[in-house]
Amino acid sequence: MSVELPEAYILAKQMDCELQGKQIEKYEFRNYQKLQKIGFINKCVADFDRLLGGRVDSVISRGNVICVKLDNGANLLLAPEYGGRIQYHPEESSAPEKFHFKLVFSDGVALTVTLTGMGVIQALNDEELKGSYIYKRDFLTTAQSPLGEKEFRFDQFAKGLTIKTVNIKAALVGKDALVVGLSNSAFQDVLYRARIHPKRKASTLTEAEKLAVYDAIRLVVQKRIQSGGKNQFLDLYGKQGSYTPAMGPNMKDKACPECGAKVQQLSLGGGQVYYCPKCQT
Ligand SMILES: [Zn+2]
Repeated sequence: MSVELPEAYILAKQMDCELQGKQIEKYEFRNYQKLQKIGFINKCVADFDRLLGGRVDSVISRGNVICVKLDNGANLLLAPEYGGRIQYHPEESSAPEKFHFKLVFSDGVALTVTLTGMGVIQALNDEELKGSYIYKRDFLTTAQSPLGEKEFRFDQFAKGLTIKTVNIKAALVGKDALVVGLSNSAFQDVLYRARIHPKRKASTLTEAEKLAVYDAIRLVVQKRIQSGGKNQFLDLYGKQGSYTPAMGPNMKDKACPECGAKVQQLSLGGGQVYYCPKCQT
């Protein structure tokens, strides 16, 4: 199950609560060579030695990326963006046999990370963080985070849409987006709720439509967090999320609950997008 902004936020909060102040005693990699070859893990596994002895200062997230900050200047970056799990184990002995990365703390609790799709497990010092692609993309970007009113401001968002000559999808999803952490899945959900056709150009949106998109982004992110994540997501303790998107592959061949029209599908920006041909204009 992919871990996107709402799920990364849930995991980071839970990890912060469980791990703060705990000291890292050891780590272990299993069956990781393939992931390392693709660049998901540091080229040199011994880089993870820098985590040893460090205490967890805080666990934060932005976009899809989780950063475990230690008091010794080391950081553990985790981003199971396209699939993976992060699990907490009250005792090391309760950890599963299969994992890619395991951390054990001096009080005996353990954390395991398994990637099932594209993702990242990296140990980086503060200086190296600035060179990390995903850290730059989600933490150091000027793109806003759609979490909370303070950070996500409508005036700024609306202005950004006005000057974007691109399709609305490119304005909301991907490396040049105005916001971090929105995936193709969130995009379909947001556009259906905002009643906007997925092929619209960002700059053609009226003020009312921009506000509808802004409100829908906040609603989707907040609902997903309140529901414990998307419906196949498992949190740090294995609890399953219950959020079902209003529009997406789950609506394939179904009728729009609003108007009864048959849900349509199109290829857009390297992904399939479902939408209602009547409600979304
Ligand atoms: Zn409809």
